[in-house]
Amino acid sequence: MRALVIEDEPVVASFVEGCLREVSIAVDGARDGDEGYRLATNEPYDFIVLDLMLPIRDGFSVLRGLRANGIRTPVICLTARDAVDDRVTGLDCGADDYLVKPFSPSELLARIRALMRRASSVPLNPIRVGDLVVDLVTRYVTRAGKRIDLSAKEFALLEYMARNAGHVVTRSMILEKVWDMNQDPLTNVIDVQMTRLRKKIDYGFASPLIHTIRSVGFVLRTD
Ligand code: CA
Repeated sequence: MRALVIEDEPVVASFVEGCLREVSIAVDGARDGDEGYRLATNEPYDFIVLDLMLPIRDGFSVLRGLRANGIRTPVICLTARDAVDDRVTGLDCGADDYLVKPFSPSELLARIRALMRRASSVPLNPIRVGDLVVDLVTRYVTRAGKRIDLSAKEFALLEYMARNAGHVVTRSMILEKVWDMNQDPLTNVIDVQMTRLRKKIDYGFASPLIHTIRSVGFVLRTD
C-alpha cells in the first residue's frame, strides 16, 4: 500500500509516517496544502492522512479540490481536540474519517484498517495462487501449507503481485505502488528484493510461481 501524509507539524508528520512505515506502507510526505494537493492529484495513493490546519492552502480546500476533481482516494483528517466544527466541516468536504490529536499508533492504524475495509481495497479472503496462500489481513503467507516468513518489503512486493496475480506487473508499476517517491528508480532495488522473495516462495518447489517476463516485468501465476 502507498499513502500520502499532508501535515506541516514535523513531530506529528514523522510520528504518522513512522507508524505507517512500521506496517510496510510506503509513505510520501507533504508539508503544505499546495504540495499535498499536487501529489494527491498526480500519484496513486491508497489513502491520504490530511491535517486540516496547513500553510498556503488549508486541508478543507485541498479536500474540496480533490473531490471536485473526481479523486475518491479515502481521506482521514487530523483535527485539534477542541475543533468540533472542523470535524463536521471536514466530513462535509468529503473526508471519510477523522482523528483527534493526539492519537496513539494503534488508534491511527485501527482507523486506517477500517477505512481500507470500507474502501474494500484489502480483500478479506486470502489470495490463492496455486498452493500459495497470501492473507493480506493477518499478513500470513504459506506455500503447500508451510509458513513462509517475509520481511516487510518482501511482503509488500508479494502483496502487490498477488493482488495482480495472472497479470504482468512492470518494474515501474512496482516502483510506483510499492516504493515511495524517495526511492531512486535507477537502483536495482526491485531485482534484489525479487531475488530474495523468489528464494522464499519458489526455492525447493517443482513449479515456480514468480515468472520473469523478459524486458517487461514479472507475473505471479501457476504454469
Ligand atoms: Ca497543522
